[in-house]
Amino acid sequence: MKFNTRLLHGRAVKRYAEGATVPPIAQVTAFSFPTAEEQANVFQHKAAGFAYSRVGNPTVAAFETRLNELEGGNACIACSSGMSAITLALLNMLCAGDEIIAGCGLYGGSIDLFEDLTKFGIKTRFVRHMTVEEIEPLVNERTRVIFGELIGNPGLEIMDVPKVAEYAHHIGVPLIVDSTTATPYIAKPLELGADIVVHSASKYINGGGNSVSGAIIDGAKFKWDFDKFEALSGYRKFGILAYTIRLRTDIWENMGSCLSPMNAYLNIIGLETLGLRMERICQNAETLARALDEIPGISVNYPTLPGNPYRELAERELQGLGGGILTFRAGSKEKAYRVLDSLQYVTRATSIGDFRSLAIHPASTLYIRSTPEMREAAGVFDDTIRVSVGIEDVEDLIDDFRQALKA
Ligand code: PLP
Repeated sequence: MKFNTRLLHGRAVKRYAEGATVPPIAQVTAFSFPTAEEQANVFQHKAAGFAYSRVGNPTVAAFETRLNELEGGNACIACSSGMSAITLALLNMLCAGDEIIAGCGLYGGSIDLFEDLTKFGIKTRFVRHMTVEEIEPLVNERTRVIFGELIGNPGLEIMDVPKVAEYAHHIGVPLIVDSTTATPYIAKPLELGADIVVHSASKYINGGGNSVSGAIIDGAKFKWDFDKFEALSGYRKFGILAYTIRLRTDIWENMGSCLSPMNAYLNIIGLETLGLRMERICQNAETLARALDEIPGISVNYPTLPGNPYRELAERELQGLGGGILTFRAGSKEKAYRVLDSLQYVTRATSIGDFRSLAIHPASTLYIRSTPEMREAAGVFDDTIRVSVGIEDVEDLIDDFRQALKA
């Protein structure tokens, strides 16, 4: 089955109650049981079923199984946001005193989270580029995980997943990949060697800009050393499934990070058109990037443009696609604001992956808590504009930016 067919007819797509083609929205808090014993069995994980929506819900489960199939995972756990997915993916395996190695070209919220984690005794060491050469000198006996974005938002650096994963396994730690900007349409990090994938499903997976949501997908191939990963030591008997089981029955459940059934439903509707949207978005982004790059004085960052240092990697790892984000520099903050204020079809809004094109000045919004060094490492300068390209007619998008740049 190819990608678009799998979205509609994959193993995870069920015949739902009454023959419904999409799952009904189980918008409930608790589920009733015919007997106390049946209820106890579900609570004790002796029987399958749903008892309370923070712990499990049929609409949410339908979303999880669909995304899990697309990523080729062993299990998917849906979360209330992309940030909760990243937080829990890390906390599930880390203890105070442990260290993370992360790329610094990350989404600003993730950089802020790593700063927050220092208060819990978890330190992050940042590399400028996610390469083995830069990671190696930062590894020590407390290193427990390597974390990076497949296509960095908004720096658009691409991680060489097979190389980084091979090195991570060589030093005995898992690789977590935030694949929000790539989506399983462009690449499947687990197949490339990563161990765990996280998503902000608020973006391309949902597609309509109508639900904040996230997901963690565990490939369940990493062989945990339970003496080294103390956080998982109580789950030793589950072997390679320890990560998923602790997450599902402990950290995720207790931290109350569940996705709402309504948002899971909206994500399923969105997911069914992921392939079509991504095809159009990637085409539009590349065409717009090329058109803007021809304007004198404007230099565009987009992975598949000639001369971009990640072009060859995009060819090898991302099927030659560059994703839906581009950035360019307007010359000064004032000019960037002027361009943004002059846009007619492109919406001035944060977020990415909406089917509407969105634009923002990241330095004065998403990166206000970052140091100037971290900001620049993420490709964010005072005059940078980030564009999340949508599915509009690309000629209109090009015209819109041309008139805004003239203004
Ligand atoms: N990861 C990436 C790459 C993002 O771009 C974002 C948000 O923009 C997040 C994670 C956080 O996701 P959410 O806003 O759903 O919490």
